[in-house]
Amino acid sequence: SLSDRLTATFKNLRGKGKLSEADVDATVREIRRALLDADVAVPVVREFTASVKERALGAEVNEALNPAQQIVKIVNSQLQEILGGETRRIRMAKTGPTVIMLAGLQGAGKTTLAGKLGYWLKSQGHRPLLVASDLQRPNAVTQLQVVGERAGVPVWAPHPGTTSEFDDPTGDPVQVARDGVAQARAKLFDVVIVDTAGRLGVDQALMAQARDIRDAVDPQEVLFVIDAMIGQDAVQTAQAFNEGVDFTGVVLSKLDGDARGGAALSVASVTGKPIMFASTGEGVKDFEQFHPDRMASRILDMGDVLTLIEQAEQNWDRAEAQKMAQKFADQEDFTFDDFLVQMQQLKKMGSMKKLLGMMPGMAGMREQIEAFDESSIGRIEAIVRSMTPHERAAPKILNGSRRARIARGSGATVSEVNQLMERFAQAQKMMKKMAQGKGIPGMPGMGG
Ligand code: GDP
Ligand code: MG
Repeated sequence: SLSDRLTATFKNLRGKGKLSEADVDATVREIRRALLDADVAVPVVREFTASVKERALGAEVNEALNPAQQIVKIVNSQLQEILGGETRRIRMAKTGPTVIMLAGLQGAGKTTLAGKLGYWLKSQGHRPLLVASDLQRPNAVTQLQVVGERAGVPVWAPHPGTTSEFDDPTGDPVQVARDGVAQARAKLFDVVIVDTAGRLGVDQALMAQARDIRDAVDPQEVLFVIDAMIGQDAVQTAQAFNEGVDFTGVVLSKLDGDARGGAALSVASVTGKPIMFASTGEGVKDFEQFHPDRMASRILDMGDVLTLIEQAEQNWDRAEAQKMAQKFADQEDFTFDDFLVQMQQLKKMGSMKKLLGMMPGMAGMREQIEAFDESSIGRIEAIVRSMTPHERAAPKILNGSRRARIARGSGATVSEVNQLMERFAQAQKMMKKMAQGKGIPGMPGMGG
Protein backbone atom coordinates (compact mmCIF):
# COMPACT_ATOMS: atom_id res chain seq x y z
CA SER A 1 0.00 0.00 0.00
CA LEU A 2 0.98 3.60 -0.27
CA SER A 3 1.46 3.83 3.48
CA ASP A 4 3.98 1.00 3.35
CA ARG A 5 5.83 2.59 0.50
CA LEU A 6 5.81 5.98 2.11
CA THR A 7 7.37 4.44 5.21
CA ALA A 8 10.61 4.15 3.30
CA THR A 9 10.33 7.70 2.05
CA PHE A 10 9.43 8.96 5.50
CA LYS A 11 12.60 7.45 6.90
CA ASN A 12 14.75 9.70 4.82
CA LEU A 13 12.60 12.68 5.52
CA ARG A 14 12.22 12.39 9.25
CA GLY A 15 13.97 15.05 11.20
CA LYS A 16 14.07 17.56 8.39
CA GLY A 17 12.37 20.82 9.10
CA LYS A 18 11.56 22.03 5.61
CA LEU A 19 10.19 20.80 2.33
CA SER A 20 13.11 20.62 -0.04
CA GLU A 21 12.66 19.93 -3.72
CA ALA A 22 14.26 16.50 -3.27
CA ASP A 23 11.85 15.63 -0.42
CA VAL A 24 8.92 16.67 -2.54
CA ASP A 25 10.15 14.71 -5.56
CA ALA A 26 10.64 11.53 -3.55
CA THR A 27 7.19 11.70 -2.00
CA VAL A 28 5.43 12.73 -5.18
CA ARG A 29 7.03 9.77 -6.95
CA GLU A 30 5.39 7.40 -4.47
CA ILE A 31 2.08 9.16 -4.79
CA ARG A 32 2.26 8.91 -8.57
CA ARG A 33 2.67 5.15 -8.23
CA ALA A 34 -0.24 4.92 -5.81
CA LEU A 35 -2.49 6.79 -8.24
CA LEU A 36 -1.48 4.55 -11.13
CA ASP A 37 -2.13 1.50 -8.97
CA ALA A 38 -5.57 2.91 -8.24
CA ASP A 39 -6.17 2.98 -12.02
CA VAL A 40 -6.18 6.73 -12.36
CA ALA A 41 -5.63 7.56 -16.04
CA VAL A 42 -2.05 8.41 -16.95
CA PRO A 43 -2.58 11.98 -18.20
CA VAL A 44 -4.66 12.73 -15.12
CA VAL A 45 -1.88 11.43 -12.88
CA ARG A 46 0.67 13.58 -14.67
CA GLU A 47 -1.34 16.76 -14.31
CA PHE A 48 -2.28 15.99 -10.74
CA THR A 49 1.24 15.30 -9.47
CA ALA A 50 2.57 18.40 -11.18
CA SER A 51 0.13 20.61 -9.32
CA VAL A 52 0.79 18.78 -6.05
CA LYS A 53 4.48 19.43 -6.46
CA GLU A 54 3.83 23.09 -7.07
CA ARG A 55 1.68 23.38 -3.97
CA ALA A 56 4.08 21.38 -1.83
CA LEU A 57 7.06 23.54 -2.75
CA GLY A 58 5.16 26.66 -1.85
CA ALA A 59 3.73 25.21 1.35
CA GLU A 60 4.20 26.70 4.75
CA VAL A 61 6.19 24.53 7.09
CA ASN A 62 3.87 23.09 9.69
CA GLU A 63 5.40 22.05 12.97
CA ALA A 64 2.89 19.32 13.75
CA LEU A 65 3.72 17.32 10.63
CA ASN A 66 6.85 16.02 9.01
CA PRO A 67 7.50 16.89 5.35
CA ALA A 68 6.04 13.71 3.88
CA GLN A 69 2.92 14.10 6.02
CA GLN A 70 2.57 17.64 4.78
CA ILE A 71 2.72 16.49 1.18
CA VAL A 72 0.18 13.75 1.84
CA LYS A 73 -2.08 16.36 3.36
CA ILE A 74 -1.77 18.51 0.26
CA VAL A 75 -2.47 15.50 -1.98
CA ASN A 76 -5.50 14.62 0.07
CA SER A 77 -7.00 18.09 -0.06
CA GLN A 78 -6.35 18.37 -3.77
CA LEU A 79 -7.98 14.99 -4.39
CA GLN A 80 -11.02 16.10 -2.46
CA GLU A 81 -11.17 19.32 -4.37
CA ILE A 82 -11.09 17.59 -7.76
CA LEU A 83 -13.62 15.02 -6.57
CA GLY A 84 -16.05 17.83 -5.94
CA GLY A 85 -15.36 19.05 -2.41
CA GLU A 86 -18.88 19.35 -1.08
CA THR A 87 -21.62 16.86 -1.88
CA ARG A 88 -23.73 18.10 -4.79
CA ARG A 89 -27.45 17.56 -4.35
CA ILE A 90 -30.05 16.87 -7.03
CA ARG A 91 -31.42 20.03 -8.58
CA MET A 92 -35.18 20.01 -8.27
CA ALA A 93 -37.53 21.60 -10.81
CA LYS A 94 -39.27 24.76 -9.58
CA THR A 95 -42.57 23.61 -11.06
CA GLY A 96 -43.71 20.27 -12.40
CA PRO A 97 -41.82 17.03 -12.11
CA THR A 98 -38.05 16.93 -11.76
CA VAL A 99 -36.60 14.81 -14.56
CA ILE A 100 -33.47 12.74 -14.01
CA MET A 101 -32.09 10.96 -17.03
CA LEU A 102 -29.56 8.12 -16.76
CA ALA A 103 -26.86 7.57 -19.38
CA GLY A 104 -23.89 5.25 -19.69
CA LEU A 105 -22.53 2.09 -21.27
CA GLN A 106 -24.42 -1.18 -21.15
CA GLY A 107 -23.81 -2.94 -17.86
CA ALA A 108 -22.75 0.26 -16.12
CA GLY A 109 -25.58 -0.09 -13.63
CA LYS A 110 -28.22 2.36 -14.92
CA THR A 111 -31.27 0.19 -14.48
CA THR A 112 -30.15 -0.93 -11.05
CA LEU A 113 -29.52 2.71 -10.16
CA ALA A 114 -33.01 3.72 -11.29
CA GLY A 115 -34.42 1.46 -8.55
CA LYS A 116 -31.98 2.70 -5.92
CA LEU A 117 -32.57 6.33 -6.73
CA GLY A 118 -36.33 5.77 -6.73
CA TYR A 119 -36.19 4.01 -3.38
CA TRP A 120 -33.99 6.70 -1.89
CA LEU A 121 -36.16 9.56 -3.16
CA LYS A 122 -39.27 7.82 -1.92
CA SER A 123 -37.74 7.46 1.53
CA GLN A 124 -37.25 11.22 1.47
CA GLY A 125 -40.92 11.83 0.86
CA HIS A 126 -40.90 12.15 -2.94
CA ARG A 127 -43.19 10.39 -5.41
CA PRO A 128 -40.88 9.02 -8.10
CA LEU A 129 -41.83 7.35 -11.38
CA LEU A 130 -39.41 5.17 -13.36
CA VAL A 131 -39.55 5.37 -17.14
CA ALA A 132 -38.36 2.51 -19.36
CA SER A 133 -36.70 4.17 -22.34
CA ASP A 134 -34.28 1.31 -22.93
CA LEU A 135 -35.97 -0.62 -25.72
CA GLN A 136 -32.70 -1.88 -27.12
CA ARG A 137 -31.84 -4.83 -25.00
CA PRO A 138 -34.14 -7.83 -24.73
CA ASN A 139 -35.81 -7.85 -21.34
CA ALA A 140 -34.65 -4.35 -20.47
CA VAL A 141 -38.19 -3.20 -19.74
CA THR A 142 -38.97 -6.26 -17.68
CA GLN A 143 -35.76 -5.74 -15.74
CA LEU A 144 -36.79 -2.18 -14.88
CA GLN A 145 -40.19 -3.44 -13.78
CA VAL A 146 -38.61 -5.99 -11.46
CA VAL A 147 -36.35 -3.27 -10.09
CA GLY A 148 -39.31 -0.91 -9.63
CA GLU A 149 -41.29 -3.56 -7.81
CA ARG A 150 -38.40 -4.21 -5.46
CA ALA A 151 -38.08 -0.50 -4.76
CA GLY A 152 -41.81 0.00 -4.43
CA VAL A 153 -41.76 2.57 -7.24
CA PRO A 154 -44.14 2.47 -10.27
CA VAL A 155 -42.76 2.09 -13.79
CA TRP A 156 -43.94 3.71 -17.01
CA ALA A 157 -43.29 1.37 -19.92
CA PRO A 158 -44.29 1.24 -23.61
CA HIS A 159 -47.43 -0.74 -22.83
CA PRO A 160 -48.18 -0.15 -19.19
CA GLY A 161 -50.45 -2.57 -17.45
CA THR A 162 -49.40 -5.70 -19.29
CA THR A 163 -46.31 -7.81 -18.90
CA SER A 164 -45.45 -9.88 -21.97
CA GLU A 165 -45.27 -7.48 -24.90
CA PHE A 166 -43.05 -4.83 -23.29
CA ASP A 167 -39.86 -5.79 -25.01
CA ASP A 168 -40.85 -4.22 -28.23
CA PRO A 169 -37.67 -3.38 -30.11
CA THR A 170 -39.64 -1.26 -32.53
CA GLY A 171 -40.93 1.09 -29.85
CA ASP A 172 -39.68 4.65 -29.78
CA PRO A 173 -37.65 5.37 -26.64
CA VAL A 174 -38.01 9.14 -27.14
CA GLN A 175 -41.78 8.88 -27.25
CA VAL A 176 -41.83 6.63 -24.19
CA ALA A 177 -39.77 9.21 -22.27
CA ARG A 178 -42.06 12.03 -23.35
CA ASP A 179 -45.17 10.04 -22.41
CA GLY A 180 -43.61 9.11 -19.08
CA VAL A 181 -43.07 12.72 -18.13
CA ALA A 182 -46.58 13.65 -19.25
CA GLN A 183 -47.92 10.81 -17.15
CA ALA A 184 -45.93 12.04 -14.14
CA ARG A 185 -47.32 15.54 -14.58
CA ALA A 186 -50.89 14.23 -14.84
CA LYS A 187 -50.60 11.86 -11.88
CA LEU A 188 -48.56 14.23 -9.71
CA PHE A 189 -45.36 12.27 -9.51
CA ASP A 190 -42.68 14.79 -8.55
CA VAL A 191 -39.58 13.01 -9.84
CA VAL A 192 -39.18 11.09 -13.10
CA ILE A 193 -36.20 8.78 -13.57
CA VAL A 194 -35.60 7.93 -17.21
CA ASP A 195 -33.65 4.72 -17.84
CA THR A 196 -31.96 4.62 -21.23
CA ALA A 197 -30.16 2.09 -23.43
CA GLY A 198 -26.41 1.55 -23.44
CA ARG A 199 -23.97 -0.18 -25.76
CA LEU A 200 -20.91 -2.14 -24.87
CA GLY A 201 -18.79 0.59 -26.39
CA VAL A 202 -19.47 4.21 -27.17
CA ASP A 203 -21.34 4.51 -30.47
CA GLN A 204 -22.81 7.40 -32.39
CA ALA A 205 -26.34 6.01 -32.86
CA LEU A 206 -26.60 5.41 -29.14
CA MET A 207 -25.37 8.88 -28.34
CA ALA A 208 -27.79 10.46 -30.79
CA GLN A 209 -30.66 8.55 -29.21
CA ALA A 210 -29.63 9.65 -25.72
CA ARG A 211 -29.43 13.23 -26.94
CA ASP A 212 -32.90 12.98 -28.49
CA ILE A 213 -34.33 11.69 -25.23
CA ARG A 214 -32.60 14.49 -23.35
CA ASP A 215 -33.97 17.15 -25.70
CA ALA A 216 -37.47 15.66 -25.51
CA VAL A 217 -37.72 15.66 -21.71
CA ASP A 218 -35.43 18.57 -20.80
CA PRO A 219 -34.05 16.98 -17.62
CA GLN A 220 -32.81 18.85 -14.54
CA GLU A 221 -30.09 16.23 -14.22
CA VAL A 222 -28.40 13.92 -16.67
CA LEU A 223 -26.52 11.38 -14.60
CA PHE A 224 -23.64 9.55 -16.23
CA VAL A 225 -23.34 6.12 -14.63
CA ILE A 226 -19.89 4.57 -14.78
CA ASP A 227 -18.57 1.27 -13.52
CA ALA A 228 -15.78 2.02 -11.05
CA MET A 229 -13.95 -1.10 -12.26
CA ILE A 230 -13.53 0.32 -15.76
CA GLY A 231 -9.99 1.53 -15.01
CA GLN A 232 -7.99 3.28 -17.68
CA ASP A 233 -10.98 3.37 -20.10
CA ALA A 234 -12.80 5.78 -17.81
CA VAL A 235 -11.38 8.91 -19.40
CA GLN A 236 -12.35 8.06 -22.97
CA THR A 237 -15.84 6.91 -22.02
CA ALA A 238 -16.48 9.93 -19.83
CA GLN A 239 -15.27 12.31 -22.49
CA ALA A 240 -17.52 10.72 -25.10
CA PHE A 241 -20.61 10.99 -22.89
CA ASN A 242 -19.69 14.48 -21.75
CA GLU A 243 -19.57 15.65 -25.35
CA GLY A 244 -22.50 13.46 -26.39
CA VAL A 245 -25.11 14.29 -23.74
CA ASP A 246 -23.38 16.96 -21.63
CA PHE A 247 -24.20 15.19 -18.38
CA THR A 248 -24.61 17.19 -15.15
CA GLY A 249 -23.35 14.65 -12.63
CA VAL A 250 -21.63 11.31 -12.26
CA VAL A 251 -22.67 8.14 -10.46
CA LEU A 252 -19.94 5.64 -9.70
CA SER A 253 -21.27 2.11 -9.60
CA LYS A 254 -19.83 -1.17 -8.31
CA LEU A 255 -17.79 0.53 -5.65
CA ASP A 256 -18.42 -2.53 -3.51
CA GLY A 257 -15.89 -4.38 -5.66
CA ASP A 258 -12.19 -4.02 -5.24
CA ALA A 259 -11.91 -1.05 -7.57
CA ARG A 260 -9.54 1.44 -6.01
CA GLY A 261 -11.55 4.38 -7.25
CA GLY A 262 -9.20 5.72 -9.88
CA ALA A 263 -12.11 6.09 -12.28
CA ALA A 264 -13.60 8.67 -9.94
CA LEU A 265 -10.58 10.91 -10.13
CA SER A 266 -10.17 10.42 -13.88
CA VAL A 267 -13.80 11.26 -14.67
CA ALA A 268 -14.01 14.19 -12.31
CA SER A 269 -10.71 15.59 -13.46
CA VAL A 270 -11.37 15.23 -17.21
CA THR A 271 -15.00 16.43 -17.25
CA GLY A 272 -15.05 18.82 -14.31
CA LYS A 273 -18.48 17.37 -13.43
CA PRO A 274 -19.32 16.47 -9.84
CA ILE A 275 -19.63 12.89 -8.66
CA MET A 276 -22.98 12.77 -6.94
CA PHE A 277 -23.69 9.20 -5.91
CA ALA A 278 -21.97 5.92 -5.27
CA SER A 279 -23.58 2.58 -6.00
CA THR A 280 -22.28 -0.18 -3.77
CA GLY A 281 -24.12 -3.41 -4.52
CA GLU A 282 -26.96 -5.08 -6.33
CA GLY A 283 -29.57 -4.38 -3.66
CA VAL A 284 -31.96 -1.45 -3.76
CA LYS A 285 -30.42 0.11 -0.66
CA ASP A 286 -26.78 -0.23 -1.75
CA PHE A 287 -26.51 3.40 -2.64
CA GLU A 288 -25.18 6.55 -1.02
CA GLN A 289 -24.32 10.13 -1.65
CA PHE A 290 -20.74 10.42 -2.78
CA HIS A 291 -18.17 11.51 -0.21
CA PRO A 292 -15.05 13.06 -1.73
CA ASP A 293 -13.06 12.65 1.50
CA ARG A 294 -13.70 8.91 1.71
CA MET A 295 -12.86 8.46 -1.94
CA ALA A 296 -9.63 10.41 -1.56
CA SER A 297 -8.38 8.11 1.16
CA ARG A 298 -9.56 5.06 -0.80
CA ILE A 299 -7.54 6.19 -3.80
CA LEU A 300 -4.49 6.79 -1.66
CA ASP A 301 -5.20 3.66 0.37
CA MET A 302 -4.06 5.43 3.45
CA GLY A 303 -6.99 6.20 5.68
CA ASP A 304 -4.89 5.47 8.74
CA VAL A 305 -2.17 7.89 7.80
CA LEU A 306 -4.72 10.59 7.12
CA THR A 307 -6.36 9.99 10.48
CA LEU A 308 -3.00 10.30 12.10
CA ILE A 309 -2.25 13.55 10.34
CA GLU A 310 -5.59 14.93 11.40
CA GLN A 311 -5.10 13.91 15.01
CA ALA A 312 -1.57 15.21 15.14
CA GLU A 313 -2.73 18.54 13.78
CA GLN A 314 -5.73 18.84 16.01
CA ASN A 315 -4.07 17.79 19.18
CA TRP A 316 -0.56 19.01 18.99
CA ASP A 317 -0.56 22.15 20.98
CA ARG A 318 1.44 24.51 18.87
CA ALA A 319 2.18 26.90 21.67
CA GLU A 320 3.54 24.12 23.86
CA ALA A 321 5.60 22.72 21.05
CA GLN A 322 7.05 26.11 20.33
CA LYS A 323 7.86 26.75 23.98
CA MET A 324 9.57 23.40 24.14
CA ALA A 325 11.57 24.08 21.03
CA GLN A 326 12.64 27.44 22.40
CA LYS A 327 13.72 25.82 25.63
CA PHE A 328 15.98 23.40 23.84
CA ALA A 329 17.32 26.10 21.62
CA ASP A 330 18.24 27.97 24.79
CA GLN A 331 20.04 24.83 26.01
CA GLU A 332 17.86 24.63 29.07
CA ASP A 333 17.56 21.27 30.78
CA PHE A 334 14.61 19.02 30.17
CA THR A 335 12.71 18.72 33.45
CA PHE A 336 9.95 16.56 34.85
CA ASP A 337 7.58 19.47 34.30
CA ASP A 338 8.38 19.29 30.58
CA PHE A 339 7.95 15.55 30.81
CA LEU A 340 4.48 16.04 32.31
CA VAL A 341 3.51 18.49 29.58
CA GLN A 342 4.54 15.99 26.94
CA MET A 343 2.60 13.23 28.67
CA GLN A 344 -0.44 15.46 28.50
CA GLN A 345 0.15 16.04 24.80
CA LEU A 346 0.41 12.34 24.15
CA LYS A 347 -2.70 11.59 26.14
CA LYS A 348 -4.57 14.11 24.06
CA MET A 349 -3.49 12.29 20.97
CA GLY A 350 -5.57 9.31 21.96
CA SER A 351 -4.67 5.70 22.28
CA MET A 352 -0.90 5.52 22.14
CA LYS A 353 -0.65 2.07 20.66
CA LYS A 354 -3.09 2.82 17.93
CA LEU A 355 -1.46 6.12 17.24
CA LEU A 356 2.08 4.79 17.12
CA GLY A 357 0.96 1.84 15.05
CA MET A 358 -0.36 4.22 12.42
CA MET A 359 2.82 6.18 12.05
CA PRO A 360 4.64 5.05 8.93
CA GLY A 361 8.00 6.05 10.38
CA MET A 362 7.43 3.77 13.34
CA ALA A 363 7.87 0.52 11.40
CA GLY A 364 11.21 -0.11 13.08
CA MET A 365 9.72 0.32 16.53
CA ARG A 366 6.95 -2.29 16.40
CA GLU A 367 8.33 -4.18 19.39
CA GLN A 368 8.39 -1.19 21.65
CA ILE A 369 4.93 -0.22 20.45
CA GLU A 370 3.59 -3.66 21.32
CA ALA A 371 5.22 -3.46 24.74
CA PHE A 372 3.83 -0.04 25.44
CA ASP A 373 1.39 -0.10 28.29
CA GLU A 374 -1.30 2.56 28.10
CA SER A 375 -2.02 2.50 31.79
CA SER A 376 1.62 3.26 32.51
CA ILE A 377 1.00 6.88 31.52
CA GLY A 378 -1.31 7.24 34.50
CA ARG A 379 1.18 5.68 36.89
CA ILE A 380 4.03 7.82 35.57
CA GLU A 381 1.89 10.90 36.02
CA ALA A 382 1.14 9.95 39.63
CA ILE A 383 4.84 9.56 40.36
CA VAL A 384 5.77 12.90 38.81
CA ARG A 385 2.96 14.63 40.67
CA SER A 386 4.35 13.30 43.95
CA MET A 387 7.58 15.20 43.37
CA THR A 388 8.08 18.66 44.79
CA PRO A 389 8.38 21.51 42.25
CA HIS A 390 12.06 21.72 43.14
CA GLU A 391 12.56 18.02 42.44
CA ARG A 392 10.76 18.28 39.12
CA ALA A 393 12.91 21.18 38.01
CA ALA A 394 16.16 19.58 39.19
CA PRO A 395 15.77 15.80 38.94
CA LYS A 396 19.43 15.31 39.84
CA ILE A 397 18.64 15.77 43.53
CA LEU A 398 16.39 12.70 43.59
CA ASN A 399 18.38 10.48 45.95
CA GLY A 400 17.27 7.23 47.57
CA SER A 401 15.25 8.72 50.40
CA ARG A 402 13.46 11.17 48.10
CA ARG A 403 12.61 8.33 45.73
CA ALA A 404 11.24 6.26 48.61
CA ARG A 405 9.05 9.19 49.69
CA ILE A 406 7.78 9.69 46.14
CA ALA A 407 6.99 5.99 45.84
CA ARG A 408 4.96 6.09 49.03
CA GLY A 409 3.17 9.27 47.97
CA SER A 410 2.17 7.93 44.54
CA GLY A 411 1.37 4.36 45.51
CA ALA A 412 4.17 3.08 43.28
CA THR A 413 7.08 0.84 44.17
CA VAL A 414 10.60 2.21 44.50
CA SER A 415 11.61 0.12 41.52
CA GLU A 416 8.89 1.77 39.42
CA VAL A 417 10.23 5.16 40.45
CA ASN A 418 13.72 4.03 39.50
CA GLN A 419 12.47 2.81 36.13
CA LEU A 420 10.88 6.16 35.49
CA MET A 421 14.14 7.90 36.36
CA GLU A 422 15.88 5.77 33.74
CA ARG A 423 13.28 6.55 31.13
CA PHE A 424 13.47 10.17 32.00
CA ALA A 425 17.23 10.17 31.54
CA GLN A 426 16.73 8.61 28.11
CA ALA A 427 14.08 11.13 27.17
CA GLN A 428 16.39 13.90 28.31
CA LYS A 429 19.09 12.59 25.99
CA MET A 430 16.61 12.31 23.13
CA MET A 431 15.42 15.85 23.73
CA LYS A 432 18.99 17.10 23.59
CA LYS A 433 19.44 15.41 20.21
CA MET A 434 16.19 16.84 18.93
CA ALA A 435 17.21 20.27 20.10
CA GLN A 436 20.09 19.97 17.69
CA GLY A 437 17.61 20.06 14.87
CA LYS A 438 16.08 16.61 14.67
CA GLY A 439 12.35 17.25 14.47
CA ILE A 440 9.44 17.52 16.83
CA PRO A 441 10.03 16.84 20.50
CA GLY A 442 7.96 14.02 21.77
CA MET A 443 7.51 10.41 22.81
CA PRO A 444 8.60 10.24 26.42
CA GLY A 445 7.71 6.93 27.96
CA MET A 446 8.91 5.15 24.85
CA GLY A 447 12.11 4.11 26.50
CA GLY A 448 11.00 0.60 26.69
P1 GDP B 1 -27.27 -1.10 -17.21
O1 GDP B 1 -26.98 -1.92 -18.41
O2 GDP B 1 -26.43 0.15 -17.19
O3 GDP B 1 -28.70 -0.83 -17.00
O4 GDP B 1 -26.74 -1.97 -15.96
P2 GDP B 1 -27.60 -2.85 -14.94
O5 GDP B 1 -28.30 -1.99 -13.99
O6 GDP B 1 -28.41 -3.82 -15.70
O7 GDP B 1 -26.43 -3.59 -14.17
C1 GDP B 1 -25.56 -4.51 -14.79
C2 GDP B 1 -25.15 -5.54 -13.78
O8 GDP B 1 -24.37 -4.94 -12.76
C3 GDP B 1 -26.31 -6.20 -13.08
O9 GDP B 1 -26.01 -7.56 -12.90
C4 GDP B 1 -26.39 -5.48 -11.74
O10 GDP B 1 -26.92 -6.32 -10.75
C5 GDP B 1 -24.95 -5.18 -11.49
N1 GDP B 1 -24.76 -3.97 -10.67
C6 GDP B 1 -25.24 -2.74 -10.87
N2 GDP B 1 -24.82 -1.88 -9.93
C7 GDP B 1 -24.03 -2.58 -9.11
C8 GDP B 1 -23.25 -2.26 -7.95
O11 GDP B 1 -23.19 -1.12 -7.47
N3 GDP B 1 -22.53 -3.27 -7.38
C9 GDP B 1 -22.54 -4.53 -7.89
N4 GDP B 1 -21.82 -5.45 -7.27
N5 GDP B 1 -23.25 -4.86 -8.97
C10 GDP B 1 -23.98 -3.92 -9.58
MG1 MG C 1 -30.26 -1.14 -18.22
